[in-house]
Parts: sequence; C-alpha cells; structure tokens
Amino acid sequence: MNAFHDHCRRSLEAIRAQGRYRTFTPLQKRADDFPYYLRPDGTRVLVWSSNDYLAMGGHPVLVAAACEAVQTMGAGAGGTRNISGTSPVHDDLETELAALHGKQAALLFTSGFVSNQAALSTILNSDPNGADQPWQVFSDAKNHASMIAGIKGSRAVVNVFRHNDLTHLDALLRAAPATAPKLIAFESVYSMDADISPIGAICDLADSYGAMTHLDEVHAVGMYGPNGGGVSERDGVAHRIDIIEGTLAKAFGCHGGYITGDAEVVDFIRSTAPGFIFTTSLPPMTAAAALASVRHVRQDHVRRAALFERAAALKARFDAAGLPRIASVSHIVPLHIGDAGLCTNVSQRLLNEFGMYATPINYPTVPRGDERLRFTPGPLHTDAMMNDLVDALLAIIPLERRQAA
Ligand code: PLP
Repeated sequence: MNAFHDHCRRSLEAIRAQGRYRTFTPLQKRADDFPYYLRPDGTRVLVWSSNDYLAMGGHPVLVAAACEAVQTMGAGAGGTRNISGTSPVHDDLETELAALHGKQAALLFTSGFVSNQAALSTILNSDPNGADQPWQVFSDAKNHASMIAGIKGSRAVVNVFRHNDLTHLDALLRAAPATAPKLIAFESVYSMDADISPIGAICDLADSYGAMTHLDEVHAVGMYGPNGGGVSERDGVAHRIDIIEGTLAKAFGCHGGYITGDAEVVDFIRSTAPGFIFTTSLPPMTAAAALASVRHVRQDHVRRAALFERAAALKARFDAAGLPRIASVSHIVPLHIGDAGLCTNVSQRLLNEFGMYATPINYPTVPRGDERLRFTPGPLHTDAMMNDLVDALLAIIPLERRQAA
C-alpha cells in the first residue's frame, strides 16, 4: 500500500508540474436566474461555459415534471431496468428518443459516457461472422474519451483517422481486411474545436466498405435539425447512421445518455451490455424531466433559432473587437489564448474581477499553443452581457497576445 501511496504522490506531482492538475470552481446553478450562478460567498456569477446550451435546466416544464415524479415515485429507481427499475416514464422516454431520430428503438443509459462506452465495447466484442475475426474500428482522432473507453475495452483492431479527414479514412478502410466487420465511430459537433463532421460523406465511405456507423451527437441533439434531431437530421442523413448516440445532460438540460438504432441492434445491446444491465436505472424524476424536455424542445423552434442567433452575435462582437476567435461553424465560440498560464489567468481574472466564468481549455484537451477559452452563449445571454464580456476580455488579454494569435 505504501508503494501505491508513493505512486499516487509522484503522479500528482507530475500532473501538477505539467499544469494538468484540475481544481473545481464551486458554482451553484439557479433554476430561476440562469445563466447566473452563485459562488459560495453568495456573489452572482455570469456563466459563459455551461453545456445547458438551450437554458432548459431550470425551465418550468422540467421542474414541474421532476417535482411531480419525485412526489409520486420517490427519488431513486430502486433497481436495474430488469429488476423493478423500469417505470412507464423510462419506456415513454425511449419511445420519444427513437422518434426524435427517426429510429426503430432507443435505449437509456445512466450517462452519455456510459452509452458510448457500453454500446461500442459490446458491438466490438461481438463476433458477427462467427469466424473469430476481430472488428476493425475506425475512430476519429478527436473522438471523446467515452468512445475511446468503449473501443479500448474491446478486442477490435483500432485505426485512428486524422480528424474529419476523408482521404485518410478511405485509405485505412481500403487497407483493412475486406472480410472483417467494420465500424466507423465519430462525432457530429466536436465541442473543443467547434467544427462539424461531414456525416453524409462518411456514410458514403461506410457504404463503399460495408462498415457500420456510430455517431455521437452529444453536442448537437436538441439544437441542430428542424426538430432538434442533431446534425444528422439537419443534413437529412439520420437514416444512414446505424447508431445515433446522445445525451440528455446538455441541450435537454437534464441527465442521462442514450443510443438509438434498428430494433434488433438496440435489443442486442439491451440484452448483453454489462454497462446497461448491471446498474440502477435513471431516477424516475430524471427520466420524467428529460421526457418533458425532449417533448418541449422538439417543438420549440424559437429557442433553437435563438441559440444560433446568440452565437452569431457573440462571434460578431469578438470579431469587431479584434479578439482572436477560433473559426466555428457551430454554436460554440472558442477564443484563442495560446498559453496555458495566461488561459488560466484570464479565466480567474474574469471570475474574480468581472464576475463572469469561462472555462479554460488547456493541454492535454487541446495541443500546447492552442489553449483557449470556450464560450457557449445561449438564448438567455443578452446583448448587454456580451458587451460587458468583450470589455472585460479587452481589459484582461494583453494587446500583444491578441495581435499574436
Ligand atoms: N460524448 C461527448 C462528445 C461529450 O463531450 C460528452 C461529455 O461531455 C459525452 C459524450 C458524455 O456525455 P455525458 O455528459 O452525458 O456523460
């Protein structure tokens, strides 16, 4: 045990020395005052980095659904899905999510992380040809840790393709054994780079080589597409994707993850994935709030439009002020800082001197030299808030750093 304690100490020292040690910034969310939060000393902070992208977390529809469910069903599910943990609201939520993506079936998980990890490891550990031939998985270089966890927890042969690089993906697919089962795993909106994958073109390659597709729409569901079905809905290609994975914890303002797909594929994962079977199901109050949110968001086109209008407004203000914005085709607005110390410092000064919070993104999440602040303006961020933010950033970020970026 002493050896392990020594190992912990050495590892933590190394993490600190590399500037990778993470500390929490305690901020209390307030349902009726979003996007303001409270610091422990009671001061109000304007948050610019929430993943409650559509400001749904405190929406009266969700709060009412959660309150009613907790009063009728209590706080916890009290069992796994197979052992008394399936309430009608879980079933209704799965039906709603399948409809959202135009799929035959959906399956809930306790988080988006678990849905990626459990679905991918289960698929990639299967033996579809009965030939004991391992899967070949093709994974975008910027895929989220949850997909990487699922892939690493399988016997699959891993081919990492350069981010959104169709030529590289094509070459790797061509080089793989023709008879091997194949799966391409990728995201639609990459939240750190604010870019979007060419889903249709990836489906074309998948068709050419007989590969399955697993698409993470965590940063797109609720927001993209006419009904919030994600970028695959927006691009009219949802029917070409085998597994669409999403979260209830970001634009839907709630908690939980899910996959959708063909009925038999989803049923196979339901019947075999340890990460689904052997864990208590989502609390009914959470499922009820999520169901209310998905139903509401699907028809709240005004809210969806407001998100993109607000993102465009912040981008325009950054550009007009000469702030070094990183190009973004999504609702996420990253600002280039280019130095880990400065990035942390700008974030801290924003908080302590101006009462605003934006997350610093440092190595290893992004390469050294690409450090950035990540802004996610939503429907409730006003023009006045944006003007104050720009003034604060101009006061904090040195001129030479703005010009160098
Ligand atoms: N996939 C991506 C791309 C993510 O960024 C995240 C979380 O940030 C997840 C999956 C996991 O989702 P959840 O927060 O619901 O566990």
